[in-house]
Parts: sequence; C-alpha cells; structure tokens
Amino acid sequence: MRETLPFPTHELLIAGRWREAGSGQRLPLMNPSDGSTLAEIARGNAEDVDAAVQAAQAARAGEWGRLTAAERGRLLMAMGRAVLERVDELARLEALDVGKPLRQGRADAVALARYLEFYGGAADKVSGETIPYLNGYTALTWREPHGVTGHVVPWNYPMQIIGRSVGAALAMGNACVLKPAEEACLTALAIGRIAQQCGLPAGALNIVPGLGEEAGAALTAHAGVQHLSFTGSVATGRLVQAAAAKHTVPVTLELGGKSPQIVFADAELDAALPFLVNAGIQNAGQTCSAGSRILVERSRFDEVVERLAQRVRVLKVGPALADLDLGPLISKRQHEIVSHYLGLARDTGLSVAAQGEIVDSAPAGGFYVRPTLVAAVPAAHALAQEEIFGPVQVVIAFDDEADALRIANGTPYGLVAGVWTRDGSRALRMARALRCGQVFINNYGAGGGVELPFGGVGASGHGREKGFEALYGFSALKTVAILHG
Ligand code: NAD
Repeated sequence: MRETLPFPTHELLIAGRWREAGSGQRLPLMNPSDGSTLAEIARGNAEDVDAAVQAAQAARAGEWGRLTAAERGRLLMAMGRAVLERVDELARLEALDVGKPLRQGRADAVALARYLEFYGGAADKVSGETIPYLNGYTALTWREPHGVTGHVVPWNYPMQIIGRSVGAALAMGNACVLKPAEEACLTALAIGRIAQQCGLPAGALNIVPGLGEEAGAALTAHAGVQHLSFTGSVATGRLVQAAAAKHTVPVTLELGGKSPQIVFADAELDAALPFLVNAGIQNAGQTCSAGSRILVERSRFDEVVERLAQRVRVLKVGPALADLDLGPLISKRQHEIVSHYLGLARDTGLSVAAQGEIVDSAPAGGFYVRPTLVAAVPAAHALAQEEIFGPVQVVIAFDDEADALRIANGTPYGLVAGVWTRDGSRALRMARALRCGQVFINNYGAGGGVELPFGGVGASGHGREKGFEALYGFSALKTVAILHG
C-alpha cells in the first residue's frame, strides 16, 4: 500500500473475490481534513449482503469450518504480524479517512495487531468443563461458534473495533460479514486484503460497505446471521436490537457514554491532569468511552479548573497529517452537532474556561472545532447529560463521596468511569457503586485495554467485547450429559 490508496476502494469482498456492488453504485468518501473527495466506495445493498451471508455459510461448511482452533489462531497471528509491518500505511489511511492525527492512527493499528495476536493466541485455549452430576452420568460442556456473525462498525475507531469483534469471532470459528461505516471504511478494506494475503480462507471474512439503512439494515435483518455485534449510536443500536429480535438473534451493543472522571480532593493532581484532558480530546472527543464529565470535589474545584484550562489552552487542532493534538471531526454533520452544544453553552450562560486553537494552515473545508472546557456545569444540564461526541469536556463540582456517586450515576449511560483518590478504601467503594462496565482507579483507559472486557449498562448497551470475555460472547455453550451406568 502506498500513500495514494493503491487498491480499488470501490470494491467489496465476498467469498474471497473483490468486485463492485451488484448495483454498480458507489458512494463518495470524504477527507474530513479538507472536505475533498478521497475515494469512492461500493454502495452495497441487500443483494450483496445476501451473497456475503451465503459466502460465510459456505466457508463454515468448507475449508474454514474444517480448520482446527490452533490453525485458526495461527492465521490470526499471521494477520497480526502483517498489520505490524504496515502500521504506518494503515495509520495514513485512517488519518486521511477519519481525520485522526497520525500518531492516533498508529496507536489504532498497533491495537488492531494486538487484538489479532491476543485472539490468535486464545483460539485454542477456550475449553469446557466436566460437571459433577448424577451417579452413572458424565456431564460436560464445550463451546461452539454461532455460525455467521454480522459486524456493524462505526467510523471513529474502525481498526480497533474490527480487531476486537471480528478477531474474537474468527478465533471461535465463526464466519463474518462486516459492514463498515459509510464515512470511513478504507482500513476495513485494507484488513480484508491483509487477511487474503495471510491465507484466510475465502468467505471467512466478507466486507460489504454501504449505507446504514441499506447494507446495515439488510445485514441486521438477515435470517442467515446467528449473532450481531454493533457499535454506534443509541438510536441505531435500538433498531439493530429490534431487527435481531425478529430472528431471536443475540446482539452485542456497544453504544455511547457520558463517562465521569471523578477527582477527590486527595487526588495526586500532577498524575491525573494529563489523563483527565486526554480522555476528552483523544480522537477529537469522538470516543464512546471519552471521559467527558470531570467531577471535582468542591474544595479543589477552582484549582483543578485552572490547571485543566492551562492544558486545554495550548492544544492545537489541524489536518490529520500534521499530527497535532487534534484532527478535524469526521463530517459536517458531526461539526453541526458539536457546534450546537457549544452554542447551547453560550446561550445558557455557562462559563467557557478554556479553548484550544485551530492552526492557520487548517484548510477551510475541514471540520475543525476548538477543544473546549466548560466549567461549573449543573449536573442536569444538557452538556452534562448528553453525549456530544466532540472535544467538549464539562467540569462539575461535588461535595462528598455520596454526591459524587449520585452525579456520576445520574445519566442514562454507564460505560466507563475514572476515580482519582489516594484513599484505597474509597476507591473500592466507588468502584463497587458506580453503574458502568469498566472503572479505572488513578488512571483512565479510554478505549484501551485489549485484554480488558469492555461494554456498558443502560443506554451504553449490553454484552462484552475485548479480553477473553468476547470469546464467550462469540460462541454458544453446549452441555452434554451421558448416562453410562
Ligand atoms: P450510527 O449508529 O448511525 O452508525 C454506526 C454504524 O451503523 C454505521 O456502520 C452505519 O452505517 C450503521 N447503521 C446506520 N443505520 C443503520 C441501520 N438502520 N441498521 C443497521 N446499521 C445501521 O452512528 P453515526 O450516525 O455514524 O453517528 C451518530 C452518533 O452516534 C454520534 O454522534 C455519536 O454520538 C454516536 N456514535 C457512537 C459510537 C460509539 O463508538 N459508541 C461510534 C459512532 C457514533
């Protein structure tokens, strides 16, 4: 892969063959750094999805289904190595397509490689158990793949999300149909090429780009799919769950969040500050697990706001290839959403404590916003309740542990939380009482942790990806009881 998208980006991958969408239609892909058209992608539709599902079924019945767990693992590890050899190329594709600074693209590519290594290594280590049962019986369990798994992926972290969901599904022996986001699918297509180069059997991974309401809806409603994994917005997640219900298909939903980072007065502030800011600006705040609410104990509120503001003021925003602190947002629509919230902050009299700067060289056609810290936000305000999905962090004061918990748990979401304190007992009490899927104590791992099970409660979704837990999600347990006397 060279700098100039050397592969035909308008093709989809079905049964090991690259071809145009059956309809011949294409969609433009935009470069968010300058608003230019970057490439054309295939506009896959229901017929393409149907062909992809059939290809996956054939792969399960054929060469892919006959591989041992160790052989599947070896293929995934080979893919992981191949990704590591192409980190810079993949990072560049992701920078052009998603608008993320190159170093973030590199980190995503390395994470993709880690997922493939992790799940490659785990493929032959998932075993069942024998269960003490009635006299004269032997009872045992094992895990089986679901069959065909559907993966609907958003635009914010294509490589990481494909790594964690497709990687785990393949490790367990499923055959996958992947629907990348229409806003960003170049690395998904590149992963398809890498898989082929590494010898992944035809049909084990099929990739159908297209619109959500066409290819996405067709995949989630398809009767031949036995498991669905969706990452994206709450509204679409609900549609996906409803579509899956028609065929009683299990769904993993990884939706948004409004994750709190809670700073107690005894926190080691020097250590906390870089985490607090980075968790809000990483990927220009377009991160489901962004630490977008900073809760600070009142006695140190002014000091913490001032020190956060110092860091936010010096942040630089510019084109992805300039590799600054932040790139542009993904699209005009996302820019409008974030601008709406910034306008709301102004109109409702909130105090903007600091904003970063858009560099002069940023092209006028790009979707840039200034990272913004809004201080003293009431916990019930829309900016403190709704997922903005941009580089906007709110700071909220709290009085004591109970107050912190009430505010932290006081949104419909529950994905991640961070707790900063030197009091170990308090840290554990908070970890127990926080309503979310992951808690970080004296650190914050927005999106990080290949090994760490990840997922939410409430509006943040259900089911777990990452870590070993994902392997259980991408397989079904079978119990066998044998009467032998
Ligand atoms: P979205 O949920 O609409 O899209 C995510 C994926 O779902 C894309 O691949 C899309 O094509 C597909 N999709 C859309 N409609 C579908 C349907 N009816 N059936 C099946 N698949 C469908 O998200 P978006 O429009 O790209 O972003 C809107 C908001 O979602 C953002 O502002 C943000 O708040 C949130 N979001 C969250 C995440 C996350 O990681 N949790 C990622 C992206 C966006």
